[in-house]
Amino acid sequence: MSVIAGCVPSRPVTKMCHSAQFSRHPVLPTGPGVTEAVRVVPHRFIVRSNIKITMTDPTRRSGGTRDPSSLDVTIVDGYVDEPAHFGVPPYISTYPRYTAGALVDAGVPETQITYYTIDELREERRRWGAVADADLAIYIGGMTVPGKYVGGTPADPDEVREIAWTADGTSIMGGPVRFGVGDANEGGIETERQNLDFDFLAMADIETAVYDLVDSGLEGFNDRYRGAEELDRWASMGAFIVEQHPNHPEYLIAEMETSRGCAYRCSFCTEPMYGDPTFRTAASVVREVKGLYERGMRHFRIGRQADILAFGGDGEAPNPDALRRLYGGIREVAPNLRTLHLDNMNPVTITEYPERSREGIRVIAEHNTAGDTAAFGLESADPHVQEENNLLVSAEECLEAVRVLNEVAGWRPGESAADAPASKPSGTTRLPKLLPGINLLHGLTGEREETFAHNKRFLQRVYDEGLMVRRINIRQVMAFEGTEMEETGADLADNHKQLFKSYKTEVREEIDNPMLQRVAPPGTILPDVHLEYHQDGRTFGRQPGTYALLVAIPGERELGQTTDVAIVGHGYRSVTGVPHPLDLNSASMDELAALPKVGQSRAGDIIVNRPYNHVHEALDGSVDLDSFVTIRASGAGTDAQGSLGAGHGSEPGAGDDWCAGSRSRRTHAHQPVKRTRTSIEASWSTRLESVMHWTTSSRRLKSSTLLSHTLTSTTSEQSPYTLSGPVPPCGPRPGISTASPRRQV
Ligand code: SF4
Repeated sequence: MSVIAGCVPSRPVTKMCHSAQFSRHPVLPTGPGVTEAVRVVPHRFIVRSNIKITMTDPTRRSGGTRDPSSLDVTIVDGYVDEPAHFGVPPYISTYPRYTAGALVDAGVPETQITYYTIDELREERRRWGAVADADLAIYIGGMTVPGKYVGGTPADPDEVREIAWTADGTSIMGGPVRFGVGDANEGGIETERQNLDFDFLAMADIETAVYDLVDSGLEGFNDRYRGAEELDRWASMGAFIVEQHPNHPEYLIAEMETSRGCAYRCSFCTEPMYGDPTFRTAASVVREVKGLYERGMRHFRIGRQADILAFGGDGEAPNPDALRRLYGGIREVAPNLRTLHLDNMNPVTITEYPERSREGIRVIAEHNTAGDTAAFGLESADPHVQEENNLLVSAEECLEAVRVLNEVAGWRPGESAADAPASKPSGTTRLPKLLPGINLLHGLTGEREETFAHNKRFLQRVYDEGLMVRRINIRQVMAFEGTEMEETGADLADNHKQLFKSYKTEVREEIDNPMLQRVAPPGTILPDVHLEYHQDGRTFGRQPGTYALLVAIPGERELGQTTDVAIVGHGYRSVTGVPHPLDLNSASMDELAALPKVGQSRAGDIIVNRPYNHVHEALDGSVDLDSFVTIRASGAGTDAQGSLGAGHGSEPGAGDDWCAGSRSRRTHAHQPVKRTRTSIEASWSTRLESVMHWTTSSRRLKSSTLLSHTLTSTTSEQSPYTLSGPVPPCGPRPGISTASPRRQV
């Protein structure tokens, strides 16, 4: 995930604490059928449920009552990143899926719903035709935590505005964008709420707004939150939309929701704006997974919740039986899934309910896939900052939770759970099943110079105790309207910028690098690394999964492919790896030189003396590379140790038929969507050629103007839009296939 601020802190909130919060935040009335607990949102977001929203520009409504079955709808995914919800590729968030389900439920045929990511629109101008022509254009987006992304670039405000300007039909925006928009998606900034020129802004759930809008013949809607039954229905009905995602199916991860909202009120966080936590049933989540699995999905992350351990319980204490129903049910309906990860676990749940937490964690580690990470939102180890921001988890409590997670789930596949934590090389070659991640947030109210020292001391203690942490996220706060951080703003983050920079470098050098060597020692195998982009003569890729390690492989390999990788070196937050197993008869000089204790000179000797029949012919015994290399029989595609790519087998659920199944689904089951995306693009190609004149209206540029202008502007190197080739099936999108500024290393 997400990234930051996963979920966090706090000891269970007392009744007193709840009351205090309730009195500060008025209650949003729930709509018909809404069964959740009372919603609590700041007053700025209150819209009474019996008031019909007025369009921001009623003159341009497409007009009249429309039969849902006749509507063409386009959904643009500008990506989302929230404290407990992630939707930047390779992830697809719940929003477009639920929205598509709501549309179908309201009577719009599946074949008339088109989905594009913002990166797809950037890559090919003709795709904007789907926005212009739609009777209803829906924009989904919003980042409420700062992040840098490899898999896609979130829409910026100008692009979002352009979508509104381009849409000739009715336009609506929703998702976390309703909380506010900043100039950039980075820490240390303030945000404000804007409608960015859309006809409608959904101030509660976008899926309910869209359902009611279509149901009313595009006349309007009431802002309301969805009910449990609606969620259940729309989650299943909207699964089809994943087939239109450019990463589908091989490199697409479905973010799964088990609950939303939070009982706590951390000063910087937008999750409490969803109210107290409301939980789905295990059966509802499992049904959705089944639908997605039938649509070819093989990667799942249970990431849309503030605390996975609270699932199915009373909101605080873990319920291991509910977790067993959830995880066991998923394994049953998706037997050949490749990834089952999670995000967000509250360390205080572990310290307050140690036995039930241990049992719950044990259940998760039995069912998940290796390399899983539970984000712990410590945010600050400074007691003063904790106090000022309602961060009720202390450094001691977080450290204890790190110990428990290491003990119960820090084992590696192939080992006994009793061996955890498996921080020392043990002969097994996989990442541990489940490790903690630590989130630290800077710029919070009360931050001072000592805060940086407190945080460093905490991380050093974790390392010195021999514990493992999968990753440390250090961010600066974004100040959203309606959170308590609104008052502090970004001032502290600004004042501490220099301090923050040097502290971050120290953590990367002194903690991150040695920790990474402990978690993923040389020889660790990362199966299914998806190759994403080239940079500086290397190929970068990641496994599908939560907080996946970025892997640099020497040389420029074909993008869009998947390969197993053996780790040979470590950066601060990324690793160097070579394809596994490496064929001594065909490996490149750079790949051989990257192997432990080989170097340029020995690599040269290996190449000069090719070919080999056995590994020991190439190596003189002074280096042991048996776990890295092989000799492949020429032309056979197999090697002396078995077929290339086999050997994932110890991973539960690593089904052999995954690729075959996915491909056949792509070929046979994935029927073209109605006015198919290609037909839209073709028709818009023609229209673009003829629409080269500028027209304006008193209110805004007409879309034809905008498009012709942009067509011209694409000739400029400064243009944010790249006219690039077609998207390779299942491959990386062209926009990220070459060196670009967004690199997360
Ligand atoms: S308010 Fe809840 S979700 Fe947000 S950071 Fe705090 S504990 Fe986590």
